[in-house]
Amino acid sequence: MEEPSDNRQKKVVAVVGGGLVGALNACFFAKRGLDVEVFESREDIRQAKVVKGRSINLALSHRGRQALKHVGMEEKIVSQGIPMHARMIHSLNGKQSPIPYGKKSQYILSVDRANLNKQLLTGKSTVVILQSTETWSINIERFYTVNGTKEHIQADLIVGCDGAFSAIRKQFLRRSRFNYSQTYIPHGYMELTMPPINGEFAMKPNYLHIWPRNTFMMIALPNLDKTFTCTLFMPFDEFEKITTGDQVIEFFQKCFPDSIPLIGADALREDYFRLPAQAMVSVKCSPYHIGDKCVLMGDAAHAVVPFYGQGMNAVSTGFGLGGKGY
Ligand code: FAD
Repeated sequence: MEEPSDNRQKKVVAVVGGGLVGALNACFFAKRGLDVEVFESREDIRQAKVVKGRSINLALSHRGRQALKHVGMEEKIVSQGIPMHARMIHSLNGKQSPIPYGKKSQYILSVDRANLNKQLLTGKSTVVILQSTETWSINIERFYTVNGTKEHIQADLIVGCDGAFSAIRKQFLRRSRFNYSQTYIPHGYMELTMPPINGEFAMKPNYLHIWPRNTFMMIALPNLDKTFTCTLFMPFDEFEKITTGDQVIEFFQKCFPDSIPLIGADALREDYFRLPAQAMVSVKCSPYHIGDKCVLMGDAAHAVVPFYGQGMNAVSTGFGLGGKGY
């Protein structure tokens, strides 16, 4: 897309989806002097009391920091992140062994997803909240929203950043020679909280803790409030075998015994059943764009499973946020 010249009206970019990639894109487009409107189907997370997302925290690495640097956000985000210099491997017998991510000075950061998203949405662009986006349709020439009354927005470029189940991508499916595939892995994930002990982190904070157990694993990333968010990745079959609190404890005793006193047996019994395990999907498609009118980015274009620590980084144009893999 051409840069707008001084004597021409500004180009309008409609970014659909105000998640990590949409919000970052909005910052980049705004920096280039374009008029940006972000369309997000959720409640505005800058005002929301409870923010639902795909994970509580994320691993941010050098590549992601470069993207933040370009939009002047690196320092702000890094100052609110917790450095993780190494993976800390938890053996079954409780032994802990660090595996560094790189040289002594190198680290990845544990960052709060909701905070990162809020910061990226703040100040750089206009966020238009659409309560119901289910009924809209897009046309690459004109951008329609049907939200009670029929609204019609003219955009020079539509950027589909509406995640793995992208509504914008659905418009691509109707077009000739568009390839698309999605694959669910047999694993699901569940988040559990490890609270502080006597006001301090229950484990060493500057590590990404991992309990590798063949076909499944648990990981834990530190949060600023001194909790850890533990994520259990396991085949759905295994999740479904556990139906009572006693079975949860039995399972943890067998696979992650050192974590039981840290998470708390009572909390484990309850939290395991709070939400069902969530699915993980990977998406491939090509091409990513329709001429110079519409482009897919982020998970809408190429969702990957979280184990690579690459999801939010894989913003195809080379700017991106991301990790190094667990
Ligand atoms: P999303 O974050 O899914 O955002 C899409 C946005 O679009 C949402 O706000 C949604 O509400 C909105 N939306 C959806 N439909 C519509 C619509 N019709 N109209 C308007 N808005 C709409 N990546 C890493 O790099 N490091 C990690 O450590 C990491 N850990 C992860 C852990 C887990 C458990 C999971 C599941 C993923 C992890 N990822 C990680 C991947 C990362 O979460 C994604 O790659 C990233 O969120 C993609 O951002 P996105 O903006 O493309 O999509």
